[in-house]
Parts: sequence; structure tokens; C-alpha cells
Amino acid sequence: MITGIQVKNQVENVLPVKVPLWQRELAGAVRDPLELMRMLGLEGASSTSPFKLLVPHSYLARMKKGDWGDPLLRQVLPLDEELRVVEGFNHDPVGDQHSVVADGVLHKYHGRVLLVTTGACAVHCRYCFRRHFPYSDFNPVKGEWEGALAYIRTNADVREVILSGGDPLTLSDERLAVLFRQLRDIPHVTRVRFHTRLPVVLPSRIDAGFLRVLEQVPQQKVMVIHANHERELGAGDVNAALSALHGAGVTLLNQAVLLRGVNDSVQAQVGLSESLFAQRVLPYYLHVLDRVAGAAHFEVPEAEAVQLMGEIRKRLPGFLVPKLVREVAGEKAKMPVFG
Ligand SMILES: *Cc1c(COP(=O)(O)O)cnc(C)c1O
Ligand code: SF4
Repeated sequence: MITGIQVKNQVENVLPVKVPLWQRELAGAVRDPLELMRMLGLEGASSTSPFKLLVPHSYLARMKKGDWGDPLLRQVLPLDEELRVVEGFNHDPVGDQHSVVADGVLHKYHGRVLLVTTGACAVHCRYCFRRHFPYSDFNPVKGEWEGALAYIRTNADVREVILSGGDPLTLSDERLAVLFRQLRDIPHVTRVRFHTRLPVVLPSRIDAGFLRVLEQVPQQKVMVIHANHERELGAGDVNAALSALHGAGVTLLNQAVLLRGVNDSVQAQVGLSESLFAQRVLPYYLHVLDRVAGAAHFEVPEAEAVQLMGEIRKRLPGFLVPKLVREVAGEKAKMPVFG
């Protein structure tokens, strides 16, 4: 295990002290697979995948040393398997590029718009369906969110604004505050939702500054975090971040992806749900893998997924059973996956 003190030493001196800790930690995140290997006491992996390694030290510290099969490591380690061309796996599996209605705004589902706020993340998840997304083509962060806000203002049926990306919490507090100040004055927007992995992979992001920004949001606040394995939640700073969000009146939900070799067992799923609830988070969706090029080795066949859900249902109270869903291009909702 890597200690907090080591983490601190690695991120210091990278940026000036007035820069928030989370930004310094992000700047100091591991980008070199050899360094990752060295820290975990492993040898030999190298990959020419164009989707680069990115993993913060605080997340790395939760990995088990010397274990290639570690469920956290598998989520972030580039492998040459990603370069294999597999039929049916492509670059826009969910049809996002056809739902763009304004700069950075996806309007696919009734009553909700999704803002692609940034292409940046604090971790690169190998199975990510946005790994090929052409973020730079439309980005509302350029300027003061004018295009996105104009669309929301003129569409009175938009009740919920979802901040997504990339990861919206990689944006600075100042950037977020600009958006919230303007959303506050749009009466039909009653909910603000975040889709973010930062409370899990970079929990220092939930700092006093961010909590102050949240206080400026009068709407109901929902945060959908993303953890796939209970060990991702097994750190005191994650617990503190989730407690702080709960204390700030944020409804906490989790979405996970069903991944071969990470969480494709009854035990892993039950453990995840139990650990989430222990930290006041309800399981929301369990996504069947989107068939994105480079991620085929993570796929769990649908029939197996359905069978797994049947077993999970026998082990957990109903409110801890996530909904198994698939994203289908052109559909008006995430599609439930049944047997
Ligand atoms: C997933 C998604 C949403 C949110 O869907 P919910 O079922 O409300 O969680 C909204 N817009 C887009 C484009 C999405 O992909
Ligand atoms: S944090 Fe989310 S958007 Fe970013 S790489 Fe991981 S799954 Fe994709």
C-alpha cells in the first residue's frame, strides 16, 4: 500500500500552494504505465493504446500490490487487447453524436438535458464509451455556457440539467459557479444532477470550496457517482467526501458497469451494494457494457448478466438491487435488460 504521506510528497511542488489540493493531486496523477507497475511491484506490461493511462495516487493506493487481477487495476491499465478489432464494437455505440442540440448539449430523453461540460476526467477507465468522443467539436465551457443556457431557457420542458462529460467536477469551482448562477434564474429547472467519478477517484475534490458552490444551487441536487467495486469505496477520504455531500443535501446514487474480471460475480455485486449503502449511496444503474471499440475483453454476455441479477435479487433488499440497463441508440430511455 502507498501511504498518504508518499502521495503528498509526490504532488507537492507541482503547482503553487494556492491551487486547491485536488488540482495538485490531479496534476500529479500517474500517467506512465511503468511508474504504475513500479508502485504496485509488477513487471512487464506495456501497451501502445492511444487512450492513455491516467490514475490519481489516492485511487492507486487502494490497489493491492503485486496483483495483476486487482479489480481497480483492471479498470485503468492499458492493455494491447484494446487494439484488437472486434466486430460489433465501434466508436459511437450509444449514438450520442446524433443527439447534439446545441453546443455541448445532448437532449435524448424527455425532461432532461445532458451537458458535456468537458472532455477531461481524473481517471481513464478503459471501458469508457466516451473514449472516442470528439469532445473538442462542441464544448460549452468555451465562453460562459451561452449556447447551452439559451437552449435550456427556451425549452420549458427541461426540468433537469445533468452535468456530465468527461467529468464535470474537473471544472474549477469558479466555472461551476458561473453556470449555477445562471441556472438559478431559470424557473423550470428544478433539478441539477452531476455524473461524476471524482468523489471515488479523487475525493479531495469535495472540499470546502466546492461545498460553498453547492450552497448556491437552490434546486434539488442529485449526484450519480461511479464505483464498480467495493474496494473503490474503502478509503476514509471517500467516506468523508460522501458524508459531506450527504450533509449538503445531495441525493447520492451510483452507476456501475458490469465488467468481466472486475465485478462479474454475485459476491462482488452484493459487496458493492452493501458498501454503497453503508456510505448513504443507493445503487441506481448497472450498465451492460457499451460496445465501444477497445473494450471487448470486458464484456459479460447479456444472458449471464440476467442470471447474475437473479442471484443478486435473492441476496439483497430490493432497494439495493441496481437496475440492469443497456443504452440503445435512438431509444428514449436506458433500456431495461430482462431474461
Ligand atoms: C443516461 C442519460 C441521461 C440520464 O438518464 P436517466 O435515465 O435519467 O438517468 C440523460 N441524457 C443522456 C443523453 C443520457 O445518456
Ligand atoms: S470517469 Fe467516466 S467519463 Fe471519464 S473515463 Fe471514466 S467512465 Fe469515462
